[in-house]
This record gives sequence, structure tokens and C-alpha cells, in this order.
Amino acid sequence: METLSGIPVKGFVETSFVDWPGKICSIIVFPRCNFRCRYCHNAELVLRYDSLEDIDFREITKRLSALKGWVDGVCISGGEPTLHPSLTNVLAFIKNEGFLTKLDTNGSNPEILKALIEEGLIDYVAMDVKSCLDETSYCNITQTPNILATVKKSIRLLIEGNVKYEFRVTVVPSFHCTEDIYKLAMELNGAARLRVQNFHPSEAIIDPGLKQLKPYTDEDIAFFQQRVDQLIAS
Ligand code: SF4
Repeated sequence: METLSGIPVKGFVETSFVDWPGKICSIIVFPRCNFRCRYCHNAELVLRYDSLEDIDFREITKRLSALKGWVDGVCISGGEPTLHPSLTNVLAFIKNEGFLTKLDTNGSNPEILKALIEEGLIDYVAMDVKSCLDETSYCNITQTPNILATVKKSIRLLIEGNVKYEFRVTVVPSFHCTEDIYKLAMELNGAARLRVQNFHPSEAIIDPGLKQLKPYTDEDIAFFQQRVDQLIAS
């Protein structure tokens, strides 16, 4: 437990049925991110994490212990979890407790991702891909210059590796037209899955101008997903 002291956890969800396809999971939420995505749904974790209450990791270990036999695994989310040196110890602890592990990441730390996979500490990765794979679009959405080459390394690592994964894209009408979404699916050709997610205007704090934007409809998202599934498999 000593190696787990001082872990900056800001959120814990005991049970989720939707964050890991086919699994029931708990979620541990880490603060901070190296991106500033304009539509970010977790802006408090990115911009004002110091004002959020810390959760003692010892409390989480107790709650996880009580969830054994009910949840299949634990998802580490954020923010961007790979920014935290304690991530390795957290994942090792969770595996040691008999849970499967899932990592949510923006793909900005392929070396860390690779090391965690090679150490057998991750069973499933959900990686956000922000736009089609061109520097201008990526920089515009993430407000992080010169990151695309690094993100592409994580994409290749997952497509060519053995760990289970999915890519996810949050679609915002002002950033992702229909053609952009299908272009990304073709760029990720051979990937296991690209999940299309809608954005929520009310949560757009980093770029408040997006609050006025009408999101795609649920029917649009379902249609995009159907077409993306075809393109990615073709
Ligand atoms: S990668 Fe983007 S969307 Fe995800 S937490 Fe960071 S700023 Fe928010």
C-alpha cells in the first residue's frame, strides 16, 4: 500500500454498465490532461482539478474489495491517466486484486502505453481519436500543436498489437462533417472498432461558444456508427 499513497484520485464510480463493452466495471478518475479539447466533457478535471476533493486510495481499495465477484474490471479514466507516474502501481494493484483493467487515454504517451501493455497490466484500451488524422484538425480541436505523429504511434501500437481496444471519436458538427467521420474510419482501416459518440453542448466549458451548437441527433449518430462499422471492416 505504501507505493499507492498520494495517488491523486478525483472520482470513483462503483458500477458502470456502459464504459466497457460487455463488462461491468468500476471507474477510477485521475485529474489533469495535456490536451485542451474544445468540447471536453471533463473540463473540471482538466482546468480546476485542485478545487476537486481528493479521494483517499485506501478508501477505494476497501470499496473495490467489496465489489469482488460483482464487477469484472476497473477502468482508469481522466483527464489523461498516463500523465501520472503512479499509474503503473495502480494497475498492478488492481490486477493483483483479481480485476481486469481498462485504460482510457488520448494516445499522447505511446511509450507509456506500450510499457503497460508489455507488462501485462492492461486488458482493454479505449483511445480517443479527435479528428481525421491531419495536423490542422487535430490541433484545432485539442489546442495542442504537433501532437499528431505521437497519437499515430499509439494508433499503430493498438492496431498491430494483441491487447483488446476500441477507438472513440466524439463528433461535433462544427468540427466533424459527415465526410470527416467517414474519412477517419477509412484512415483507421483494420482497427477493431471506432465508436462514434455525441457531444454535449451544456458541458462545453473549454470553448463556451460550443454551448450554442446543436449536436447531431441520436439517429445521426446511429447512422454514422453503421457506416463507420462498414468502412472500418472493408
Ligand atoms: S483528452 Fe480532451 S476530452 Fe479528454 S480529458 Fe483531455 S481535454 Fe478533455
